[in-house]
Amino acid sequence: MTQFDIIVIGAGPAGSAAATWAAKQGRSVALIDKATFPRSKLCGGLFTERSRAYYHEIFGQEVDLSHAVTRDEMAFWHDGRELAVLKDIPPLHLTMRLDLDAAMFTHALDAGVEDFTGQAIAELTETAVKLRDGSVLKSAVIIGADGVNSIVAKQLFGKSFDTKTIGFGLEIETPLSAQDPATQPLRIDFAAATWGYGWSFPKQGSTTVGVGGLRAPNPDMKDQMQRYIRTLGLPPEVGKVKGHHLPFGDFRPTPGRAHILLAGDAAGLVDPITGEGIAFAMKSGQLAAQAACDAIKSNAPHTALGLYNYSLKDIHRNLRIARTLRRIIFAPRWQKSLIGSFSRSGTVRTMYMRLLAGEVEYPELARNVLSQIPRYLLNGFRRTP
Ligand SMILES: Cc1cc2nc3c(=O)[nH]c(=O)nc-3n(C[C@H](O)[C@H](O)[C@H](O)COP(=O)(O)OP(=O)(O)OC[C@H]3O[C@@H](n4cnc5c(N)ncnc54)[C@H](O)[C@@H]3O)c2cc1C
Repeated sequence: MTQFDIIVIGAGPAGSAAATWAAKQGRSVALIDKATFPRSKLCGGLFTERSRAYYHEIFGQEVDLSHAVTRDEMAFWHDGRELAVLKDIPPLHLTMRLDLDAAMFTHALDAGVEDFTGQAIAELTETAVKLRDGSVLKSAVIIGADGVNSIVAKQLFGKSFDTKTIGFGLEIETPLSAQDPATQPLRIDFAAATWGYGWSFPKQGSTTVGVGGLRAPNPDMKDQMQRYIRTLGLPPEVGKVKGHHLPFGDFRPTPGRAHILLAGDAAGLVDPITGEGIAFAMKSGQLAAQAACDAIKSNAPHTALGLYNYSLKDIHRNLRIARTLRRIIFAPRWQKSLIGSFSRSGTVRTMYMRLLAGEVEYPELARNVLSQIPRYLLNGFRRTP
């Protein structure tokens, strides 16, 4: 049996951030992942300036974007019609998760974290993790950063997520594109999925094409994906379609129990409007690690959850507001008037981009949207037969 201060399960953005932050404070950390790195993760790989700032703060260095494509333009489409092309927006980086996650994992090892990747978990208890090779790891605090299908969340709450509120995304990675990849725009298509959207993100040597949204109102997401592939002018057999759940606003108000904390997708911390998850995964990993270190320092590991939950309050507030706004933004009833106002109003478009870049947060966006609601409602009622 090996004793650590903290065990982190999952070495994605949340887990590597948590492990690095705790190790930098002198804590002994075990980082477990069933995969070996580099490993791929189904994801658009859109890395915002918010993510870039968190990355720098947590890992102490600039993210390596030499394998990424960076754009300061984004095209918005709706139902096969171009709504607007936004120019000079804050830079958006299209990364491959294979490289990005491997870099974060390497930072964790460099910080002194002990590597238990490529190891499946045989048994999980409140204080110990037994690996398939028979070794047993014990710790004062456990951080579950094992993604949307989290076994730590399942152990605590009986299930990893709620099937009624979870999101889902489908993606292909294709070397083909209807346009030259060098000039191909970064593109978002509203209405490619119900309560969600479609995306086409140029990468170096490929394009990531996907649709995603709430799972329950999209029982035919595969068909929507095929329609979207056709809309983009790509052949039907353009690439292998893969799917993954996405906790699209489905966050846990209490992310853990006593000395067991959940971070990233395991805690449901994905933006319910933009689908951005990498930024909050890293940030929540850092906050979970800080809470764990503080609780251990005061000899009271069981207080970790209280400390962690308190530090998450701004993120939770943002996600709550975003979930409310989503009812207006994605509701089929209001979509037409919102899309109209998106194509007409520079303010609405700029606000959306600043939100994505992390320059404004949801409370400010909410104030803006709320001031426009009477007009949306009026337009909506005018259209109601
Ligand atoms: C289709 C799609 C597109 C997306 N596009 C974007 C985007 O463009 N930009 C963005 O910011 N976000 C995007 N997201 C969300 C983003 O991918 C996630 O929010 C982010 O990966 C969460 O990081 P994480 O560290 O919490 O979990 P993950 O990245 O899922 O990492 C979890 C880790 O835990 C490991 N693990 C799982 N189970 C176990 C186990 N039993 N034992 C040991 N290890 C385990 C896994 O191997 C994995 O390495 C997208 C998601 C989807 C599904």
